Amino acid sequence: MASEAGDSTTGTPCACGSGTRTTRCTDCLQSPLSCEQCFVREHKLLPFHWAEQWNGDFFVRKDYADLGGTITLGHNGDACKHAPSSTAIDLTIVHTNGIHESRVVFCKCSLHGDRLSQLTSHQLFPGSTDSPRQAFTFDLLKNFHLYSLASKKSAYDYMNAIRRLTNNAFSKDAPNPYPAFLRIVRLWRLLTMMKRMGQAHGIDTVLTHRTPGNMAVQCPACPEPGFNMDERIEPLDKSIIRHTETIFLSLDGNFRLQRKKKNNDPDDIALIKGAYFPDGQEYKDYLRKVGDNTPEVPTFHPALHLTSECDFQKSTCAKLNAVNMQEKIKFKGMVCTGVVKCKCARHDFSLPKATANLQKGER
Ligand SMILES: [Zn+2]
Ligand SMILES: [Zn+2]
Ligand SMILES: [Zn+2]
Ligand SMILES: [Zn+2]
Repeated sequence: MASEAGDSTTGTPCACGSGTRTTRCTDCLQSPLSCEQCFVREHKLLPFHWAEQWNGDFFVRKDYADLGGTITLGHNGDACKHAPSSTAIDLTIVHTNGIHESRVVFCKCSLHGDRLSQLTSHQLFPGSTDSPRQAFTFDLLKNFHLYSLASKKSAYDYMNAIRRLTNNAFSKDAPNPYPAFLRIVRLWRLLTMMKRMGQAHGIDTVLTHRTPGNMAVQCPACPEPGFNMDERIEPLDKSIIRHTETIFLSLDGNFRLQRKKKNNDPDDIALIKGAYFPDGQEYKDYLRKVGDNTPEVPTFHPALHLTSECDFQKSTCAKLNAVNMQEKIKFKGMVCTGVVKCKCARHDFSLPKATANLQKGER
């Protein structure tokens, strides 16, 4: 929070001639001491840099807004003619180097968008849609996305570190953006996925043979009619190269990947449809159709189709002992008794909508 070492220029007149040198930047390299106004002017486009200000005894950490800086949207950092600085609102902005209590002026020119679109077009992801008071920088969301994939860092631990970057001595005094962060990260992942899968760019109009809305990465090496195979009616035969058009699939299940019946947040719904699990309603309808003694299933999660109890039949297949050995009691209180998946055997790519929750032991 504070550092002691001043330098010989501390308290001397600033180069601008109208202030004294008290303030320096801890994020810029070789930042000289300057007055507050010079700091704010030089950081118009770098408002998330932390400042240190000399208070006579030691340096105290300050935010850009503490020094009178406001972030103006819409004019490359310059003031908007129709939005004076008095219209600034408080916005807590979470960035990779900490949490900033910023003052933001929204552009009010005739072509300006709403707050939501102004924030997102300036790489700030609002924490809510109506009158957002919290935003996350795209840098932070990209940073966390990579950390969570590369090092399995949890959102909780990441936010704790961000709060410590804000105030390492008293991290509990820093704002806690964790609840909003959890929601926003899920949306960020969804939007990133839609962009990468081409859904945001209308890829379905190009790859018309695929299921509309496909969000699964399909194996580029396995033969896929209409994508990486020659157009022909007759299949290749009596030729070694017919294997170039053979697809090898493997199907396997994990019967320890179970889910017990417990309370769920009914609003915690799956955002992604059309990836690896079948659509909730579609799967439910299928289970009803195949019927036998499938009970009515309550839905807590679109991807999970849950049975109240495991009323399963023994297999008539003499060889499939694994099924017959399952004990009814073993699956008591389970809403999902395992997962079965189909994938391409040679390259390990999961097939779209080919992963299913099992309802009755190994069936
Ligand atoms: Zn700086
Ligand atoms: Zn100055
Ligand atoms: Zn404007
Ligand atoms: Zn493959």
